[in-house]
Amino acid sequence: MKSIIVALAGQPNVGKSSLINAISNAKLRVGNFSGVTVDKTEVVFNICDDVACKDYEVHIIDLPGAYSLTEYTIEEKVTKSFLQSDEYDIIVNVVDSTNLQRNLLFTTQLLETGKKVVVALNMCDEAKKEGIEIDEKQLSAILGVPCIKTSATTKEGIEALKDAIVEVFEQKETTAKVVYSDPIEEEISHIVTFMEEKKYKSTLPYRHLAVKLLQEDEDVYKQMHDEPIWIEMLPIVREGLNHLYLHNNTKDLDEIFADEHFAFAKGAKMEVMSVSYTHLRAHE
Ligand code: GDP
Ligand code: MG
Repeated sequence: MKSIIVALAGQPNVGKSSLINAISNAKLRVGNFSGVTVDKTEVVFNICDDVACKDYEVHIIDLPGAYSLTEYTIEEKVTKSFLQSDEYDIIVNVVDSTNLQRNLLFTTQLLETGKKVVVALNMCDEAKKEGIEIDEKQLSAILGVPCIKTSATTKEGIEALKDAIVEVFEQKETTAKVVYSDPIEEEISHIVTFMEEKKYKSTLPYRHLAVKLLQEDEDVYKQMHDEPIWIEMLPIVREGLNHLYLHNNTKDLDEIFADEHFAFAKGAKMEVMSVSYTHLRAHE
C-alpha cells in the first residue's frame, strides 16, 4: 500500500477541518476557535483508486489557517515552514468559493512552492445559493492543477477530490503554473533557456527555479551557489533583476511579486466566475 501525505492549506474558516471530516469520517473540531488551530492535526484513512483498486493510505495534515505564506502570525509561521519542508507529497488548497479572488491570492503562492497541488473549491453549496458560478475546468486550465468543487456540508465533490489527490500524487512533477507579466516571463525564459543549453540537472522544474531566482529566494540561491553553472548564470539573473527593477520602478521584489500575484488572482477570477443576473438584482 502506498502512502500519500497531504498538507491541507487554506485561509481560516474556509472549511479545512470540515472537509477532512467529510473525507475521512474523522471528528475534528469545526468552527472558529481562535488559538486552538496552531497545532497541526493528522488524520489517516485509506482510499482506493477506481482503475486498479490500489489502496492508498492517506495522511492529511490539517495546517493552521493562513492568509498568505508570510510570517506575520504564529499560524502563518507554522504553515509556511511545514509547506517548505519535504514532509509531505501534495498540497490540497481549500478555497472558499464565495470569496474567490482573495483566496486565489494564497493559491498563487502555493502554486509557486514547486509542490503538487489540488484545489478544492469548497462551500460550493453556499456559492450556488449566492448565484456565484465558477467554471472549474477553465480554472484548472489556468492554474495547471485540478480544481474540484466541494461542499463539506452536502458532501458534493468529495469522491472527485479523492480521485484528484491520487491522480496528482501519481504525476511525475507538478504541473502548476502561475503566469506573470511579460517582463518577468521574458526573464524566466532567458534563465530557462540557459539551463536547457547547459543541460543542468535539477530535481525541480527549470521554470520553478527561474521564478525563485528572480524572487531572490534564499534557499534556491544557496542551492544554486554550489553548482558549476552558477558563475555563468549569475549575470543572467542579475540582468533579469535589473530589468524588473527598471520596469516596476522599484527594487522591492516582495512588492513586485505581490502585484503579480494580485493581478494573476484577479485575472483568473474574472475569467472563471460569474454571478447570475437575478442574484445581482437581489443584492442591489
Ligand atoms: P477551517 O477554519 O478552514 O478549518 O474551517 P471549518 O472546517 O472550521 O469551517 C468553518 C465554518 O464553515 C464552519 O461553521 C463549517 O460548518 C462551515 N463550512 C465548512 N465547509 C462548508 C461547506 O462546504 N459549505 C457550507 N455551507 N459551510 C461549510
Ligand atoms: Mg480548522
